[in-house]
Amino acid sequence: MNAEKVITGLSPLQADGLACVVCGADYLCVRVPHVPVGRSVTGSQVFACVGCCADEARGAAGGELR
Ligand SMILES: [Zn+2]
Repeated sequence: MNAEKVITGLSPLQADGLACVVCGADYLCVRVPHVPVGRSVTGSQVFACVGCCADEARGAAGGELR
């Protein structure tokens, strides 16, 4: 049920899973909980901040609150 989505148009940091694919927060500098939301075109897992970024990255598919 967590189908992997390929996310395009990412910066190198985002594509490496080191930054939020939605707001661009740098996870090496900012400690924020984040969850995998899909893969980059190179196959690396990519992440978004827990909360609205993750919802947005998933296209609000789940409809769950927080
Ligand atoms: Zn974010």
